[in-house]
Amino acid sequence: MYPVREVPQIREVRRCEGSEYRERYMSSIGLRSIIAAAFVAVFVCGSSQVALGQGQRPRVVTIVPRTIHPGDVVRIGVSGRAEDRIDATVFGQALSFTFDESRRVWTALAGVDLEVKPGAYRLLVQRNGAAARTQTIQVVRKRFAVRRLRVSGSFVEPPAEALAQILLDGKILAEVYARVTPQQWTGAFTQPVDGPATSNFGTRSYYNGSLRSPHAGVDFVGKTGTPIRAANHGSVALASSLYFTGNTVIVDHGARLFSVFAHLSEMHVKEGDIVSPETIVGLVGATGRVTGPHLHWSVRLNGARVDPMSLIAATK
Ligand SMILES: [Zn+2]
Repeated sequence: MYPVREVPQIREVRRCEGSEYRERYMSSIGLRSIIAAAFVAVFVCGSSQVALGQGQRPRVVTIVPRTIHPGDVVRIGVSGRAEDRIDATVFGQALSFTFDESRRVWTALAGVDLEVKPGAYRLLVQRNGAAARTQTIQVVRKRFAVRRLRVSGSFVEPPAEALAQILLDGKILAEVYARVTPQQWTGAFTQPVDGPATSNFGTRSYYNGSLRSPHAGVDFVGKTGTPIRAANHGSVALASSLYFTGNTVIVDHGARLFSVFAHLSEMHVKEGDIVSPETIVGLVGATGRVTGPHLHWSVRLNGARVDPMSLIAATK
């Protein structure tokens, strides 16, 4: 069973109700499965039609990390030339490749959603529309921390009058995550604030005995007013106050990779702004459903909720 860590006082809860509640309603696991099936069908049909392309099958040269868990960002490298076109799917995601001139390798990131079931998944790779190469990616079970908390009912359930805003927020977020823009991020992602993450990604919490959605980001406890950096290049897709996450800035790094910075005391950017890794997007605060000032940083990659620290590791 999972290890159980008791947190006896609500004062010690440094987490974000918003992400949990929202994820519960915004989950698109079902949709992802349908997309996955569609891609598999396309590749299977495609490979039977282009038997002459056998010699052109690309070679998968890198899959990092070696052991893959739910919530991980996986870097996939494929052999090829700059003039090639590489297409690949895994976990129901169509991957976006860029050519690494120095290593002569095409690379892409895939996101393993934090609720993906352990098991074998098929990576299909095509070069220039020729026959697909299939490779198995094994997702290994991870034991996320579990917390059991007793809190007042009003802390767990939002008041009825907040429902309209919660629904509107969900619609706005779905529109943001549906954006598909050219890749702007480059090189390694960096932490938006200094210091260690204080809440583990994926932690499962029971509030008054009932299981909530897992924590889909990392929290950094910091003083109100601490500057938050953009972590990489991108453009601001959202700078707005939301019910659960308070003042929220979402940076679209391009190629379906988004950073969410939540609970800000101040937002220093507006929608449409172009940001670089060192751009200050806002300041640490305690807006939204929180119990103390902290930065909640979450990342969406191809629709998957992934560990931001894994994104840093995968892009080093
Ligand atoms: Zn959080």
